[in-house]
Amino acid sequence: MAVFPALVKAGHEQVCFFHDAATGLRAIVAVHSTALGPGVGGVRIRNYADDNEALTDVLRLSEAMSYKAACAGLACGGAKAVVMGPFPADRRAGMHALAGFVERVGGRYVATEDMGMNESDIALLNDKTRFAVGRALEDGGSGDPSPYTAQGVIVGMRSALKAAGMSGDFAGLKVAVQGCGNVGFGVVERLLARGAQVLVSDIAAQATARAEQLGATVVDNEVILAQPVDVIAPCGIGAILNETSIPKLQCRVVAGAANNQLATAADGQRLSERGIVYAPDFVINAGGLINVSDEIDPAGYDAERVARRVAAIETTLDEIFETAQQNSETTAETAMAMAKSRIAAGR
Ligand code: NAD
Repeated sequence: MAVFPALVKAGHEQVCFFHDAATGLRAIVAVHSTALGPGVGGVRIRNYADDNEALTDVLRLSEAMSYKAACAGLACGGAKAVVMGPFPADRRAGMHALAGFVERVGGRYVATEDMGMNESDIALLNDKTRFAVGRALEDGGSGDPSPYTAQGVIVGMRSALKAAGMSGDFAGLKVAVQGCGNVGFGVVERLLARGAQVLVSDIAAQATARAEQLGATVVDNEVILAQPVDVIAPCGIGAILNETSIPKLQCRVVAGAANNQLATAADGQRLSERGIVYAPDFVINAGGLINVSDEIDPAGYDAERVARRVAAIETTLDEIFETAQQNSETTAETAMAMAKSRIAAGR
């Protein structure tokens, strides 16, 4: 990859390559923007095929974090770290080496969890750096982000329903939730509690079992997106809105937690042409980031502030749907423009 053209195009401020001789740990930290505050983002541990794949991933992910934070109105920017797997067998030594990398970025990057990490790893990072958040509740941290993400999806879904000309009332609404993990299950619980009729699917049978016990109906994962429902809530994997799936959709709204739901930007246009209201993923799924980033507030974590900010996802989306309509652009384009203008103002 031609590195500088990529950085210039996406607007990255800094990319650091690290190697720790003692553990063999290798990582890349990409700071996309600190215009609104320190760049907050997860550490992803993955067995990358090569350096290029890792670099591409960290650049893309760090940029997305900036937009997510900006749309959520947070005083933080976007950054991300990728660690070249496999992680050193001595987890403690590996995490301490990683903390050393984070320290050297000098507070411009604040690490959180992503794939391959858990709360106990954050505690290990905190042995050596204060620039890591997402500690367990019992350690004075913000705890599991999933319930906040799920709650954000519910308020965001209400905004999307209104934009689609419906009342925003969940009673009697038919919703299909794809992916029934930490967030998906939280969405299902909240929908059922509000009187919605819920269909669920997952690639893992055990994941849907507890949703079924609560009253959801399990359908085959291959056909969930084509169900005649009011809302599709993607809460499993990304790129599920594409050339093949969009023509089969029989819903009025797509509103869910999964990251990178659109396979390409053209798929935002395809949804819009079909008259389907799409809640941009990086806006509606910001609840987890809102929760974890609250730990960096100088006054400490404040649950009430978090609840207020998660609730505000609804008004942010109201504004995005209205502007997209006025400007005849896709909702993803409007959200991106909103994020970019907030970052530019912060600069
Ligand atoms: P999770 O791992 O707890 O659950 C994901 C579920 O999706 C699992 O049950 C898995 O079996 C299922 N799944 C995987 N591939 C699937 C497929 N092809 N079709 C259907 N189901 C599939 O993850 P999570 O924390 O619930 O996150 C769900 C999505 O939301 C992810 O895309 C994640 O990146 C995104 N997200 C999560 C948070 C959060 O707070 N956890 C925040 C923002 C975004």
